[in-house]
Order: sequence, then C-alpha cells, then structure tokens
Amino acid sequence: MWTNLDKALLGASDVPDASQIVVDHLVERGLKRPSIYLARGNRLRIQAVAGYQQVFDGMPFGAGVIGRTYVSGEPVVIDDVESAEGYLAASPGTAAEVAVPIRSGGKVAAVLNVESEEAMPPELVEQVFAAAACFEKALERIGGVAPESPAQRLVRHATRLTTLTDEHVIHAEVVVAACDVADMASAALLLPGPRGRFHAAEASGMLSDVLSHATQEAVEAIARLVQSGCSLYSTGGTVPTAQELGALTSSGVEAVIAIPLTAGVDGRGVLLLADPEPRLPDTDIVELLETLATHAASCLRTAEAVDELRARAATDPLTGLGHHATFHEALARARARRESIAVLMADIDGFKAINDTRGHQAGDRVLRETAAGLSGALRRGDELYRIGGDEFAALIRVGDANEAVEAGRRLREAVAELGEVTVSVGAAVPRRDENDASLLARADKALYTVKADGRDGVALLP
Ligand code: GH3
Ligand code: MG
Repeated sequence: MWTNLDKALLGASDVPDASQIVVDHLVERGLKRPSIYLARGNRLRIQAVAGYQQVFDGMPFGAGVIGRTYVSGEPVVIDDVESAEGYLAASPGTAAEVAVPIRSGGKVAAVLNVESEEAMPPELVEQVFAAAACFEKALERIGGVAPESPAQRLVRHATRLTTLTDEHVIHAEVVVAACDVADMASAALLLPGPRGRFHAAEASGMLSDVLSHATQEAVEAIARLVQSGCSLYSTGGTVPTAQELGALTSSGVEAVIAIPLTAGVDGRGVLLLADPEPRLPDTDIVELLETLATHAASCLRTAEAVDELRARAATDPLTGLGHHATFHEALARARARRESIAVLMADIDGFKAINDTRGHQAGDRVLRETAAGLSGALRRGDELYRIGGDEFAALIRVGDANEAVEAGRRLREAVAELGEVTVSVGAAVPRRDENDASLLARADKALYTVKADGRDGVALLP
C-alpha cells in the first residue's frame, strides 16, 4: 500500500533528498528531532536533521546509540537515554530515542533516529518504523547509496594507515589503497634499499609480478624521473615516450602513474601505479594520489621512529645489551613457554677500584669489553643482559644443572682471558613451580657465595 510518504519520496532523486523528505515528514507528524545518518567510508555522516542546535557528524561505527544500531542491525527503542549504554547527548533534555537501521542491497546502509523529550507513545514509535520502511523502498528505487568517491576512499584508507606501526603492513596497505583510490589494476612501492638502490618493496594487483620483477634499471630510472618532486604519468597513448616507462609496456602495462613518496621533500620512494589499458588520469586523482603518497611517507617515518624508540628503550646504551626490564620480560616469556633454561648472574670483581684509580671512562671501556667477552662465550639462542652497574645476567638454554655450571665456567674464563678483570658467577636452574623472583634470588645468593669465597669463580645453589 502506498503511503503519503511513499508518494512524497517519488520526488527524491538522491539520498540527501530522500533523507530530507523523511525528516520533514516526521516533523509534520509531531516528532521533533529526527535525523538520518549514512555510512560513508568508516563513519556515519548526517544526511538530514531537524530540531537540533548542534549535531554529531563523522560518528565512528559503534559510537553512541546510532553507531551501535548500525553495527548490530537491530532497531532500538529507549525510554530513558541516561541508562542507555554509550548514549551521546547532542541536545539537552532528551529522554527517549528510537533508532532504526536502514538496509540497502541487504546491508545496513543508514540509521534513522528520533529523539524526544518524553517517552514516545507506541503510535509515534510506529511512525518512525513506517518512515524507515518507506525510506528503504525509496533507496532501492534511487539505486541504493551512491558509491564512495575517490576522495572518500582516500579518507578511509588514510584514516586506517594512521593506525599502523609496522612498516611492512603499511607498505601492503598503501599499494592496495593506491589501486582503490585511482581505480588502477596494480600498484607498487619503490623504496631505496640500504645502499640507496631502489627496489619494489611491495606490489599488488594483476600486474604485481610485472612491477615487482621490473629490472633494476627500470626501477632506478622511474625513481629518477620523479626525483624533482613532480608526478609523472603516461598520457593514454599506447607507448609512453619516456623509455623508462616504455620498458614496462612490453609486459602488458599500458598506463602508468609515478608519484614521489613525499611530494618532493626527500627521495624516500615512489608510488607506482599500472594498468593494462591505456588511460589518462584526472588531475583530481593525481592530487589524491599525491596526498596518499605524502601520508604514506609520514606514516612510514612515524613507524621508523617508533621502532627506533622501542629498540632504544629496550637496550643499555653503553653496551647495546638488553637491560634489567628486558631481562625480566625475556625470563617470563621463556618460562611461560616452559623452556629448559638457567639463569647466570655475573658481577665484575673489584670494579669500583677501576673507576677510582683509572677513571670512569676506563671503567666504561671495561664494562663494554666485559660485555663483549661474555657475549662471545654464549651459545646460539642464549641471551645476555646488563641488569645493573657491573652486573650481567645470562638466560641460557640448558639440559641440566651441570650444563649451567659449565656455561658459568665459560663466562668466567672468557672474561679472565681479556686480562683486565675477573667475574664471579652465580647460577640457578628453576625448580618445579618456582616463581621468577625466587629463581633470581637463588642465582643472586649463589653469586654472593662466590664473592664471599674470594671471588673469580662459579657457584650453583641446589
Ligand atoms: P665486588 O667485587 O664486591 O663486586 O666489588 P665492586 O667494586 O665491583 O663493587 P660493586 O659491584 O658494588 O661496584 C659497582 C660499581 O660500578 C659501582 C659504580 O660506581 C660502578 N658503576 C655503575 N655503573 C657504571 C657505569 O655505567 N660506568 C662506570 N664506569 N661505572 C659504573
Ligand atoms: Mg662488582
């Protein structure tokens, strides 16, 4: 049966029009604060609204009653918003809320929401549901929600990229984003390696093999072409004039776009797109790709900085070894995996005297040399940490206590051979169900017995 709203909606040619008609209709029926939110990218965007002094827009999926209705796909009728989980107050004095998901092509595409100062009687709630049904029908007639524009796709990818900190994941997502934004078949990231030579660090799409196996000369040449900060693309003819791009055409590439990764700030890489059809990109698309490339470069720099800070925070700057906290984490990890391990504590004998007689710098040098000596005496898979001033801890993989003592002897000898200082070593092998603190206390105690016995030795407490 055709309602008045159905008839009014026949005049709508797009989603904002239809949304406005539904909102106006509900206001006429006495519902003061209707709004319609449409999913665009990874947020909900307001399409039409009445009765508010201010509105929320760009609502993340899951945020507020509207966001949760979008995610669950289930309508909600709330009589007391204060008790509703995650309620976002856009207008003071709101008491009740009805939110109804709107489907298009079988998927939730929008949410129709009505807020009210008092609990809504069932007949008004029914009006909201009926309006939602009419809106769904109108959406179908209009042809559904308009597809995302390239700019919207860029916004979605850029937002996602800012959440990433692993450079390889960023590489993989940037090439996918580039293909999606430009609607090109393939994309690759050309990045300089350790010796400054460019290579395809990542490639995606149907031409990914061609892009990732492009010759070194072609990759270097393309990087040089955009070194100045200009973007470069083929013009839609079948053979690009630049020889460097021409090298790809023999493998089925008919269109290329090359974008410098930082739009001219420095030569950190190239975003290269390719398609099997000859085509000329719009300026708008090239601008969006330049924004993506700059954003990608910024995300990569942040990821690099985070990695560096993480590595610095985990190591002792004097010796480059892991420190106290790193050691405790590694011990906990090894024990959680039930590895067969032992802990060795090594402390330099009479170290204070070196500082006192030869100076602090000489002391530092002895610490570095001792660290190197101890490291050299470890087997593959064993780890050394500097856990205090002149105190080192080794986490070693052993079969039994004898092996642990043997490893302790090797550490002692390696330092003695340097001819500068000696170390005392205490060892402990975990008992069944023993906690880390108790294990470390036993290793410490073993070390103390060596010190008390005159130093330069190894002990293990049973
Ligand atoms: P013991 O045989 O009983 O171990 O005697 P010790 O002289 O080695 O005494 P202790 O282990 O207590 O001395 C550690 C000294 O290490 C004290 C501190 O001044 C010094 N120290 C701590 N950190 C550093 C550092 O980074 N550089 C230098 N040069 N000295 C340090
Ligand atoms: Mg000491």
